[in-house]
Amino acid sequence: MHTVRSSKIVSFTESSATNSIFGQADGLGGVDLHFRSDPRLGLRAIIAIHNTRLGRALGGTRCRRYLSEIQAIDDVMRLAQGMSYKSAFASLPYGGGKAVLIRPETLADREAYFEGFGEFVDSLNGHFVTAVDVGTDVSDMDVIARKTEFVMSTSANSGDPSLHTAQGVLNGILAAVYVRLKRHDLESVSVAIQGLGKVGLSLARLLHKRGANLLVNDLDRNLMQRCVDEFGATPVATNEIITKNCDVLAPCALGGIIDNRSLTSIRAKIICGSANNQLAQEQHGDWLFSKNIYYVPDYVVNAGGLIHLCFGSSTETEKRIAAIYDSVADLFERSQACHRPSHRIANELAEQRLSNSGSAHVTA
Ligand code: NAD
Repeated sequence: MHTVRSSKIVSFTESSATNSIFGQADGLGGVDLHFRSDPRLGLRAIIAIHNTRLGRALGGTRCRRYLSEIQAIDDVMRLAQGMSYKSAFASLPYGGGKAVLIRPETLADREAYFEGFGEFVDSLNGHFVTAVDVGTDVSDMDVIARKTEFVMSTSANSGDPSLHTAQGVLNGILAAVYVRLKRHDLESVSVAIQGLGKVGLSLARLLHKRGANLLVNDLDRNLMQRCVDEFGATPVATNEIITKNCDVLAPCALGGIIDNRSLTSIRAKIICGSANNQLAQEQHGDWLFSKNIYYVPDYVVNAGGLIHLCFGSSTETEKRIAAIYDSVADLFERSQACHRPSHRIANELAEQRLSNSGSAHVTA
């Protein structure tokens, strides 16, 4: 099922030889894209479904400003692929999907906006199930739930998964610190956190409890101040957080932060955070490997939220989030043994699990 509800929704005028939507989708192994525009609500929504071999597509709804429609389409497709890999790597029964809402400058009626989006989700008849992500929260999911049953992380069901995501990231940091720094604890280990939203703030709290020294940045100065007051964190300028001299860089905002510009200035020994698609391109991970910077693949370490959506607050969830430590340690063991970057090995493992799962690419 490929749905474009209005021919006016997306202008591909920005598309060029290097910006081909189909080329990008092909490169990801195939993606179904669904669009909805509703000018009365300011709604411009895109749902991408990447792979449904393991189950129906599940992915968060991201609501933010974009520089262009092409950037939004690129984001939603890559995020959907990340969800397929995340689910496969964590052996969870879901496929990969994602929703992106191109946020208008002003959102006059937030409830009507998310109700409109809920109708869009419902129109896919359960082929896509959504939850919170950047720029959305549990109250938005509650509004979506008025229009569709295919929504998780509402206050009536699993609630906000972000604490479990942060716990998974903490376990990833602990494993990487053990392998790279030969340390069993985080006392005085310096961690630079970019993004102090739902996940980043929880991570800051968990790290502080373990004695880590925090360097923090968010575009929202109030969140930074909160970390200074509550955790004794050091505030860092937006353009400096990625390149700060520290043990661990924890990207917890948006993707694509490890790119040609930032690459050569990164001084952290470990990169481990919740942000999806941290590597702008695969070869940026190869470069990190060549410089002995231990990169923990994002979808390996940020699966705690997805685990929470599957199993709620349960001992199964706790067990699986604890196992993220072992997955990360195992990944680095393999990486050292075969002298190959961690992200390449993780991708291969995820792809193997997807191709061993039997059925063909089915989305609707
Ligand atoms: P959020 O919207 O609650 O927080 C994001 C924070 O990043 C905001 O406070 C925002 O001001 C800040 N930010 C945005 N751009 C920034 C920049 N350039 N520099 C500094 N700060 C910036 O989002 P979240 O739910 O905490 O998710 C954070 C990341 O983790 C996202 O990439 C998301 O996809 C990923 N993730 C989240 C979950 C989850 O359970 N929430 C699960 C898996 C992955």
